[in-house]
Amino acid sequence: MRSITILGATGSIGASTLDLIRRNRDHWRVKALTAKCQAAELAALAREFGAELAVVSDENALPELRDALAGSGIETAAGEGALVEAASRGADLTLAAIVGCAGLAPVMAAIEQGGIIALANKEALVSAGEVMTAAVARHGATLLPVDSEHNAIFQCLAGNDIADVRSITLTASGGPLREWSMERLRGATPAQAVAHPNWSMGAKISVDSATMMNKGLEFIEAHHLFPVGLDALRIVVHPQSVIHSMVEYRDGSTLAQLGPSDMRVPIAGCLAWPQRIDTPCQPLDLAAIGSLTFHAPDEQRFPATRLARDAARQGGATPAVLNAANEVAVAAFLAGHIAFTDISALVEQTLSRDLPPAPSSLGDVLAVDAEARARTAEMLEIARVV
Ligand code: NAD
Ligand code: MG
Repeated sequence: MRSITILGATGSIGASTLDLIRRNRDHWRVKALTAKCQAAELAALAREFGAELAVVSDENALPELRDALAGSGIETAAGEGALVEAASRGADLTLAAIVGCAGLAPVMAAIEQGGIIALANKEALVSAGEVMTAAVARHGATLLPVDSEHNAIFQCLAGNDIADVRSITLTASGGPLREWSMERLRGATPAQAVAHPNWSMGAKISVDSATMMNKGLEFIEAHHLFPVGLDALRIVVHPQSVIHSMVEYRDGSTLAQLGPSDMRVPIAGCLAWPQRIDTPCQPLDLAAIGSLTFHAPDEQRFPATRLARDAARQGGATPAVLNAANEVAVAAFLAGHIAFTDISALVEQTLSRDLPPAPSSLGDVLAVDAEARARTAEMLEIARVV
């Protein structure tokens, strides 16, 4: 029996993970489950899985959590410190599925325990980059990628020498607005942007998929996970989302990982690693799919991948600023304050200001993140007044 902690248990990735745990109950002991403020939902999951601890990061949600878990013997806690404390209790496997840079401090706490971290929370790696990968090495932790593209690459690299890699290609669905004209994109609503054709996901990553910032963040994520050099990293649009990514070797051979568009496949890969387990996912039916198509991204209509590539090249604090600006801009778009095309424009504007020096610790990254959020929020205010 192995122990597991799920950071962000009430989200889309959290639900997919718990679905697999539910099917393999004899193999797992649930240590901590966390959420932002969904107390009732979290309490129900904590009871169902017999968790030791349930944590809400929003302290206002603690009374409801306490009431819902009264008499269960399940410990409760609230606040960002409690989240970090839960992560540092050290499970055999920590599933990091909080959305945004808010997940960084607990992920770092889990890394310090030296266990296995299955990372879905890409924003944490994008923001902390070298700070996180250095901590992984220092504490002897193992980072397994949950993101379907990175999990695909991880699988295609198994048994090979990374020195033999010629290139890595991340596939992108292109999102729900892939074929929209620039003019139509300007008027895209939150409901249209989150209606992803292939994947069912949380709101923030769904908007990121529509702007292509998701692929931009994944480009930076890949750069840290698979050190082949930025020039060897490619992005191709593949609307069917059947090939989840590819690795090309020096001999001209390309390995690809294919599968259904269901996050339970890569999550199962992480839960069972280095072995495999069953999933209830529909098997691929290639004859029914018929054809797989590919084309280059259009960076005129979707500038986010260009912004992310440039940020990766610049390194230092730039990726953290890019991520923070994007988080603020996406929240403003979802709240109906800005247009869809303003998201990338705001990110670009935030990046055009003087940037802070390269962060060298968790505290530095969090400071860069906070400052960039404040800058973007300030620009938003100016834009709203004008
Ligand atoms: P989601 O919005 O469905 O769930 C997010 C979870 O984090 C919830 O449990 C929520 O309560 C918690 N949370 C949100 N804000 C928080 C905060 N400030 N502090 C503490 N907890 C907070 O998101 P999701 O779609 O499950 O995505 C989670 C992460 O996984 C993201 O980084 C996303 O990019 C990544 N990811 C998701 C998918 C997917 O298919 N959903 C695929 C690949 C990668
Ligand atoms: Mg992905």
